Amino acid sequence: MFINRGQDCLRLIVVVLMFSSAAIQALAQLSRPPATPPLQYSPQFVTEIKRVQQAALGSDYAYRQLAHLSNNIGPRLSGSAQAQAAVEYVAAELRKLGLEVQLEKVMVPHWVRGEETATLTDYPSMAPNTTQKIILTALGGSVATPSNGITAEVVVVNNFDELQALGRDRVAGKIVLFNAKFDQQLADNGFAGPAYGQSVIYRGVGASAAARLGAVAALNRSAGGADYRLPHTGALRYSDDAPKIPAAAVASEDADLIAHLTSEGKVRMHLVLTPQTLPDAVSHNVIGDLKGSEHPEQIVIVSGHLDSWDLGRGAIDDGAGVVVAMQAARLLKQLNLRPKRTLRVIAWMNEENGTRGAQAYAKDYQNEIVNHFGAIETDLGAGHPLGFYAQGKPEILTLLQPLAVILQSQGAGVTRLVEETGSDVAPLGAAGVPTFAPIQDSRTYFNYHHTAADTLDKVNPKELQENCAVVAALAYTLTSMPQALPR
Ligand SMILES: [Zn+2]
Repeated sequence: MFINRGQDCLRLIVVVLMFSSAAIQALAQLSRPPATPPLQYSPQFVTEIKRVQQAALGSDYAYRQLAHLSNNIGPRLSGSAQAQAAVEYVAAELRKLGLEVQLEKVMVPHWVRGEETATLTDYPSMAPNTTQKIILTALGGSVATPSNGITAEVVVVNNFDELQALGRDRVAGKIVLFNAKFDQQLADNGFAGPAYGQSVIYRGVGASAAARLGAVAALNRSAGGADYRLPHTGALRYSDDAPKIPAAAVASEDADLIAHLTSEGKVRMHLVLTPQTLPDAVSHNVIGDLKGSEHPEQIVIVSGHLDSWDLGRGAIDDGAGVVVAMQAARLLKQLNLRPKRTLRVIAWMNEENGTRGAQAYAKDYQNEIVNHFGAIETDLGAGHPLGFYAQGKPEILTLLQPLAVILQSQGAGVTRLVEETGSDVAPLGAAGVPTFAPIQDSRTYFNYHHTAADTLDKVNPKELQENCAVVAALAYTLTSMPQALPR
């Protein structure tokens, strides 16, 4: 039986392969444009792009920079002393590379985590005089409970419809737990971003939805994979039309526990969260220019965000993106490749809880947006890159096809058009600037994202080099390609 099934499978695979290769040939013939020769770059330009790529694959500069940001400076939440130290450090490093550096002032939220503890104080079949500890972490921007905490019954819902169905009568005075599971299979299939999007909505707006029905606190099952009892923090957004209630993310195992116990009877929780929101603080985007030789007024941005959450050390989110951008500029300098357009490195401030840096840039440079040729942001970790995303007109991919051919030598030849490539470059994209990002293997990214485990060891030095190669080659191509990009 086993053997038969094996043979059936084999036969099926052969048929599928035969069918698909015939189908692919037919499709290729159908979709081949009549007589347009494929676009080619000059042999010299191809050689230069390959030099950038190869130099990136052989350099440990980015990893050393990432080690400094993650281990020596540490977590870099907006408004913190570490965020300020990181601004000064990156500015100094870019100056060392010979870039023209400016600090763009940004006012940022200044939220500080406090105590965060929870225990179940009453639940079905509880041993007398005991409690159960719940692992959770406050959401960024959350208000505090009273310093001695609150104690209330917990109700569990899987989505907003279930919350509405409960109605005010069964929600008022209670703690609501949104128990939406992160779809790891979707992430494993290459759609980590959409998987995150599905569950992060409860972190973002769950507190206000619960507060509208009278809840006293809101919890969400952590928006992320990996079941190592790690809670994932992240920003919430209070609506103006609802009271502000304390909010925290619960480790997935603890969400399962609460769901199990509430299915059997009443569960009460004692919750203490004592974060503080201080007055907005002065911070900065770090901007470093490598001036273009022919069109210095035209700008190609290569970027990552310098701020991070406070639980980990901001290695994958997004120290990696910052050092990849720094490396792009360093390689052009090192190889004596003067870009035709200006290469602008940006280490954005406050992506995590406000995107104030991106907003400030879009405002401060609004009259020069038309001169922004393209903008790259790396903000999905440092996993093996498969190619690059582009947002804009489809012809952009045609114009960059020769680059994709070069990148294919490192397994990164895929190009894909998407709606958005990164939150800091999104305002530029909305204003018509083509934006880009590496396509990264992000199957494990949301295991660590926004947790205490976002540490340097999660970055594979080889894969970081691969990302540097894709981003630096793309950045150099954009700065020096003869064609203009349609917009
Ligand atoms: Zn990020």
